[in-house]
Amino acid sequence: MATTRGEGGPRYRSLAPGGAHQHADGTWHTHDHAHDHAAPGPLGAVHDHGMPAERIVAIEQDILARNDAFAARNRQLFRDRGSFALNFVSSPGSGKTTLLVRTIEALKASYPVAVVEGDQQTSLDADRIRATGAAAVQINTGKGCHLDAQMVGEALAALDPAEDGLVLIENVGNLVCPAAFDLGEAHKVVVLSVTEGDDKPEKYPDMFRAADLMVVNKVDLLPYVKFDVAAAVERARRIRPGLPVVEVSATSGAGFPEWLAWIEAGIAAARDARDRDLNALRQRVAELEAKLRAAGQAA
Ligand code: MG
Repeated sequence: MATTRGEGGPRYRSLAPGGAHQHADGTWHTHDHAHDHAAPGPLGAVHDHGMPAERIVAIEQDILARNDAFAARNRQLFRDRGSFALNFVSSPGSGKTTLLVRTIEALKASYPVAVVEGDQQTSLDADRIRATGAAAVQINTGKGCHLDAQMVGEALAALDPAEDGLVLIENVGNLVCPAAFDLGEAHKVVVLSVTEGDDKPEKYPDMFRAADLMVVNKVDLLPYVKFDVAAAVERARRIRPGLPVVEVSATSGAGFPEWLAWIEAGIAAARDARDRDLNALRQRVAELEAKLRAAGQAA
């Protein structure tokens, strides 16, 4: 399945409550023009059309509130199914898809894996994921620079992720806009490859602040580039104190034992949370049944 919004996107109909932006005059804006990301406020995806700042802030709050309602639904679905969901964010070219493919190859025998792929155009990444045997839905955002929770919710309805599994969401390659949008995931994972600058955390602080793990990827290329891993980690932790970091190569497999251990701990925690919910529900049912029995005896 591919869904498209914005330019040339008749296959994606439900523009209104998701990532489309309602202006103060009531019209909807669907990313069909060039963006000015210099607007004030936390939401890089809202654009400056010469509106007063306070009106822009009000629109941002409206968009984020709508998104959060859809994100809460996704989060509940993950909770009910014992799914561990990760939202991968990075610049284009950091190796997210290669990281996902190797991760799936390593875990698919042990856990069901479902994947949501976000790109502006093409289903190339979903095709690579499906070649592993994992189920994947490609969302094409058209001119949109990030996934939103409604798009992901629709993809999840199509994927119907199995119980006790892993849900991997590959966001659109962009270190700005995806930071502001909760998709219902357990964690945002920011991927920084050593072919980029080690100063990215300082240049794009919102994303590193929003992430719960930094994956430093392509470490097999360290002998050939000027990237300083210690400096990148130090810069990221200045923005997000204590940020856990794993150093991997998705092509050589270096660092994968630690990366996979982090994921498997998350899967176990998601299952435990679902089991606690079920036990609480069973206890509540038993209490209600006891109450009914007592009421029956009294009658
Ligand atoms: Mg990709």
